[in-house]
Order: sequence, then C-alpha cells, then structure tokens
Amino acid sequence: MSASAVHLESDAFLVCMNHALSTEKEEVMGLCIGEVEAGRVVHIHSVIILRRSDKRKDRVEISPEQLSAASTEAERLAAISGRGMRVVGWYHSHPHITVWPSHVDVRTQAMYQMLDRGFVGLIFSCFVEDKTTRTGRLLYTCFQSAQAQKGADYERLEIPVHVLPREAIGKVCLESAVDLPRILCQEEQDTYRKIHSLAHLDPVTKIHNGSVFTKNLCSQMSAVSGPLLQWLEDRLEHNKRSIAELQREKERLTRELSAP
Ligand code: ZN
Repeated sequence: MSASAVHLESDAFLVCMNHALSTEKEEVMGLCIGEVEAGRVVHIHSVIILRRSDKRKDRVEISPEQLSAASTEAERLAAISGRGMRVVGWYHSHPHITVWPSHVDVRTQAMYQMLDRGFVGLIFSCFVEDKTTRTGRLLYTCFQSAQAQKGADYERLEIPVHVLPREAIGKVCLESAVDLPRILCQEEQDTYRKIHSLAHLDPVTKIHNGSVFTKNLCSQMSAVSGPLLQWLEDRLEHNKRSIAELQREKERLTRELSAP
C-alpha cells in the first residue's frame, strides 16, 4: 500500500535545501528519519546527510553501511524522543534538471519499497531558472514506485508533500546542518587524495590540482559555511531577545503576584 501523504517538518526541509544548494555539479543525497502513521502519513522529523563515496554527475547510491548507520541513528533518536523513529525515506537533488524522478530513480525506489513498503523518495530540483521571471527556483516532489500497468517496469506515483512549520530548529536537524560543511570538506579531500596519489603526474599538474582543491574548499566556505554561520548568529541574537522578553514577563508577573 502506498503512502497517502508526507509531512516534512520545516527544519528538516531547511537542511535538505541547504544540502541541495551546496553542490551545483553533482547530485547529493540523504536519508529521512521519522515515523509512519496508521493512516499511511509519513512524518519526516529529521534528515541525515550522506557522504558520497563516488562523485558522479547523475548517479547517487546509498551503501549498505550508510543505511545501517542511519538505522542506528534512528534508534538513537527513538530512544531520546520516546517515539518510534526509523528511516522512512531518502532524498536527492537534481541540479539543473527537472524535479521528476528518472527511470533509474523509479527503479531504485521500487527496490527500497521491497524492503519497506512505506518508504518514500524526495527530490529537490535546484539551480533552475524560471523562464518568465528570470529568477532561480527550487522545486521539490515526493514519489513512490508502482508496478506499471503494462509491461514489467515501474512507474512513478506522486505523493502529496506538506511542509509543516516549526518555530525552532530541532537538535538533530541542527546537528545535520552543522555537519554539512564537514562532510563537503571530507568529500573534497577524498577526491584530491585520489588524484594526488597518481605519482606519474608532473609537478606543474600536481600544483594545479592542489590549487583546484584549495579553490573548491574556499568556494564551499563562502557558499555554505558563511551563510550557516550567519544564520546561527542571527538565531542566537533572536534567542537572546526572547530570553530578555521572557525575563521581563516573569518580573512583571512576580510583581503582580506579590502586590497586595
Ligand atoms: Zn534522480
């Protein structure tokens, strides 16, 4: 039986968007953690960003190790929150292309559904320009796979997705957001090490590769770490103001209570 709807909490949505917008050249991916209601509504409370072992333009894969690590993480969250949390889906980005799942996506999704029928797939299409307004836009969709009417293949089943507003960012989502620059940096380092180990390269090429590595790290810092830091600082400022307001409210109430 397919899922009837997906409720994605706004802080988890924010992490997905940040992740999708971090890389323009290749697809990125992660896993969704949450719970499934009896009415087949999938609630996504947080996401886990996955580190790519192989950067390719149009292919994303989850290794069994990553899936098992995510399950352990879900168990940890379940213990903290006292709710039945588990891995309920996956997400990936489509930079510069349509939001709709590819044939490969639909087939991959069908494979996940064989293990867990309620499993859902989210796609974030980014770096696409709106032709009329000339502004960048980000589109997202949620899907499952179903056996096609004709033939042995699978077809896409669109699942309505609702973003639920949340006032604060949850601890797990905050951890994921902060993890993003670290993961991106590790990916760059892995790629660089692979190239650098090619001993036959001449010194000039090696220097060139080193510069590309540094340049990539710097552009990531300005695109991801900088805005994240700014956002956290704003958040801190906001929290300080709320604390001061609450403090004043408390003092006022105490005065009123103690007044004769
Ligand atoms: Zn895809």
